[in-house]
Amino acid sequence: MRPTLILGGTTEASALALAMAAARLPAILSYAGRTDSPVAQPVPVRVGGFGGVQGLADYLRAQGIGHVVDATHPFAAQISAHAVAACVATGTPLTALERPAWVPGPGDRWTMVPDIETAARLLAGPAQRVFLAIGRQHLAAFAGQPQHHYLLRLVDPPQAPLPLPDCHAEIARGPFDADGDRALLERHAITLIIAKNAGGTGAAAKLAAARALGLPVILIDRPALPPRPGVASVAQVLARLHADLGV
Ligand code: NAP
Repeated sequence: MRPTLILGGTTEASALALAMAAARLPAILSYAGRTDSPVAQPVPVRVGGFGGVQGLADYLRAQGIGHVVDATHPFAAQISAHAVAACVATGTPLTALERPAWVPGPGDRWTMVPDIETAARLLAGPAQRVFLAIGRQHLAAFAGQPQHHYLLRLVDPPQAPLPLPDCHAEIARGPFDADGDRALLERHAITLIIAKNAGGTGAAAKLAAARALGLPVILIDRPALPPRPGVASVAQVLARLHADLGV
């Protein structure tokens, strides 16, 4: 049976790898290589970029990949676009494992913004204590608002100086829970949260904690992606694979 390539780096991708191993469906899980110690997996793992659309297409052919499942983070727009193009080029079926975006409910004080730069502009004004929960890659966008104290949450300890003069990095890997995140926000006397609208359960705890504490949240919208077939659960991915692979 030809292996499925899972584009990963998320809790959902790890859950899919586990389910595929249990169902004895061959799979290879791909990481970008952003973290020092990725989670151990029950399927073979490869690490690092493919080298653009052409590199990914070459990889799909060389490995005889039968199906690609894009289970990357909703903000990983480049690899998702590359997957669409490489699958078209090689005639490989593609399924995206997509998490619905979060929507505000009663008690939420959310401001939705289209991108990180807009979120940073909204920080003009007096000093606040900000939980900047956007990962490591785009912190420099906030360098123009140095008056704030920033609480960061990073998977690995930073290897280089961070671009924010007044910040504290909490080293932790999700999934997180609402009680723990509430305690974190209280411990650091946070007054504002900035987050990506990732959707899913693993990172929603901070929003529940913000709601419980009545704190405002600036939520960054997802980048646009090319159209592709998508499903919302691991079970639905497995159903598609069974249908596609005829097993
Ligand atoms: P990105 O901007 O879409 O991708 C940049 C480049 O990284 C891609 O062009 C590709 O390089 C490589 N890449 C990305 N994901 C890959 C994967 N799963 N396997 C192999 N190569 C991959 O992605 P990103 O936002 O930097 O995210 C990188 C990884 O972190 C993804 O796996 C994503 O699921 C995970 N992640 C991202 C976020 C986020 O907020 N962006 C949050 C949590 C986890 P080549 O062009 O050389 O193939």
